[in-house]
Amino acid sequence: MADVILKNVYKIYEGGNTAVQDVNLEIKDREFVVLVGPSGCGKSTTLRMIAGLEEISKGELFIDGKQVNDVSPKDRDIAMVFQNYALYPHMTVFENMAFGLKLRKFPKEEIKKRVTDAAKILNLEEYLERKPKALSGGQRQRVAVGRAIVRKPKVFLFDEPLSNLDAKLRVQMRTEISRLHQRLEATMVYVTHDQVEAMTMGDKIVVMKDGIVQQIDAPLNLYNYPVNKFVAGFIGSPAMNFIKGKLSPDSNMVFTSAKGNLSLPLPENYNQKLGEYKGREVWLGIRPEDITDSVQNREGHQFSAVETVLEVIEPMGNEIFLYFTIEDVQFTARIPSRIKPSLNVKTILHFDLSKCHFFSCDNEKTLL
Ligand code: ADP
Repeated sequence: MADVILKNVYKIYEGGNTAVQDVNLEIKDREFVVLVGPSGCGKSTTLRMIAGLEEISKGELFIDGKQVNDVSPKDRDIAMVFQNYALYPHMTVFENMAFGLKLRKFPKEEIKKRVTDAAKILNLEEYLERKPKALSGGQRQRVAVGRAIVRKPKVFLFDEPLSNLDAKLRVQMRTEISRLHQRLEATMVYVTHDQVEAMTMGDKIVVMKDGIVQQIDAPLNLYNYPVNKFVAGFIGSPAMNFIKGKLSPDSNMVFTSAKGNLSLPLPENYNQKLGEYKGREVWLGIRPEDITDSVQNREGHQFSAVETVLEVIEPMGNEIFLYFTIEDVQFTARIPSRIKPSLNVKTILHFDLSKCHFFSCDNEKTLL
């Protein structure tokens, strides 16, 4: 297995479209790294440059310590699993999985052993003689993964491999791929636009936007310490609430929204971090789970009561999502389902001030 290093990597397509800009990324041996971001942010292009399917316009790519910018895909010792499976319809599952090895002139016995081993790992043993059209979507996806496994590559690349599956199957395949990663102890790079997939699968997550890497971090660090407003809003579901307002100029710092409908006296520890923003405009961010129905006496937490009127109530079973508006900004709160909230009446909710995030109004970077 191997590490993968991208140094100042750019992709500039013909016509001058810069799809990927100055990416620096170190993927360690056996690490599971997820590239995540909205559609068009450059995830696939980055993955395809690692695969060798896309030329690197500028910068360097190393696999296993070797610079491979000019090495052809087939000599990079990587295997890629695509969203559309790309199985051969006229071949059986066995033949599909064996195809790459046959091309590389592996001995028949070795091919049989590798395909049988992979089929065992993927629970495909009883389907080896079937054609893809007689398989479910999940089974087809497993064959596509199997075709990668039999090659025993240094690095596995996955490009949105679960996008074509229904929600339930996606969750199941997610855990299967995670388990596979543990079992194979392989280096894996996985592209998705789904932040839940990223959070649950990645050892390390790379958040991209407009071809630029925003943050590279472990899942919980991304969640707790987003470096900017984009990452804060992208990671977490339902998304973080944001509202613009001003910090008071005095030492008892208070955040007040533009029309004064939200006024939060901030705990002392913000004083030091936000000191230079006193009297200035900032973005406040708070996650739905940090707006609660009741004050919990937890050490280090300080709550502020906010009176509001609930506009929509969504019971999710184990919890309830509440929607309300403060100065044209829609807020979401997430509360336990034991509560019975009512629509269109005055309701008190509590903002956990210790969990607030603050971002610059100039460049949207975190102020904490
Ligand atoms: P993602 O995988 O994050 O959805 P892509 O890597 O596919 O994004 O695309 C990144 C950007 O590069 C997009 O703006 C896309 O339109 C552009 N792009 C992708 N492929 C090409 C191409 N062959 N020629 C020109 N522009 C491209």
